[in-house]
Amino acid sequence: MPLPKRKTSHARTTQRRAANWKVSLPQVDSCPRCQAPKLNHHVCSACGFYGNRMVIDVQAGKRATDGGAGSDAAQE
Ligand SMILES: [Zn+2]
Repeated sequence: MPLPKRKTSHARTTQRRAANWKVSLPQVDSCPRCQAPKLNHHVCSACGFYGNRMVIDVQAGKRATDGGAGSDAAQE
């Protein structure tokens, strides 16, 4: 059974592990309604809309109740 010839050094181990540590930028898009930057597949925090439906009442600061049945799409 083949075995490694040498012990993997501490530096080589940590360098290998550090190479997999990459932070990706969040996918930011602009709101089609108010053009404020918002996260993809998230409710716009500026106007409270997701698609063409108001999910969050921004003035009241709470979830809009007249949103209809699909309230599971609401993400704060
Ligand atoms: Zn918006």
